Amino acid sequence: MPQVTLPGVVDRHVHLGLVDRTLLADSPVTEVHDLGWDPRETAAWATTPPSGVRVRYVGPFHTAPGGYPAGRSWAPNAAVRPVASPREAAQAVADVAAAGGFAVKVALHAGMALLPDDVLRAFVAEARAAGLPVLVHAEGAGQAGRAIAVGADVLVHVPWTETLPPELIARAARMTWISTLAIHDGPGRPAGLERPAGLERALDNARRFVAVGGTLAYGTDMGNGPTPVGVNEREIELLGEVGLTGEVLLRAVLGPPEVPALTAPLPVPGTAADLIAWLRASRTLGPTPTDLEHP
Ligand SMILES: [Zn+2]
Repeated sequence: MPQVTLPGVVDRHVHLGLVDRTLLADSPVTEVHDLGWDPRETAAWATTPPSGVRVRYVGPFHTAPGGYPAGRSWAPNAAVRPVASPREAAQAVADVAAAGGFAVKVALHAGMALLPDDVLRAFVAEARAAGLPVLVHAEGAGQAGRAIAVGADVLVHVPWTETLPPELIARAARMTWISTLAIHDGPGRPAGLERPAGLERALDNARRFVAVGGTLAYGTDMGNGPTPVGVNEREIELLGEVGLTGEVLLRAVLGPPEVPALTAPLPVPGTAADLIAWLRASRTLGPTPTDLEHP
């Protein structure tokens, strides 16, 4: 039977410290981006990853002293770096680069202490100078707007706590937003019950973001609650609900050509349901030794 070979699934938002990462071995997920943990641990996992998986990482969450996620039961102290000044932001970015991080993670959560604008601007300027993108967790009133205004590259969740006005969505068109839509979908919600408001707001923001040319990318926040370790089919279904199909859907879920590849029978998947079926039928071709090298 004729086969088609495609890059494997890249999950752009995971927390390997909160799951049994060995379950990823030789699964359709061939690259994961750890978005917040003790940088020494993530660097070690990247050196000896599960078979067939490339691990990239950001190192710690950067936040205001006392800001999110400090004090959360799931967040070890070394996963959270408090930053109090532009100078400290510069040092924090240098430390991410030295630890081999691929990006700088910044947390803005309106329910807890917040980084002020001068520190936020310093993060963006220093990261840009270091050639690293800035990835922002934005939660609560006004925080997505601050991330967009300061020039952050990525929102690690589609905004779900508020409906963004059209002018803000338009300003965000140059960004990538990581989907994490399924975390709002409440496991075990009986069919027919109304969907959570957070999911509806996120879907609405995502549709309008895609309509202005924004890049929506698959990411699951694996480790946040009872998420599957592997392909999160619900996340792909919800990307389908946003309206992603064809090439755009494949680009959102699958990696660039250099990630370890998958193969399965033709045809090339065109819808979310096709892609889920294709991934179920796929097998990993396995990485070549060079694929496993981490920069
Ligand atoms: Zn997360």
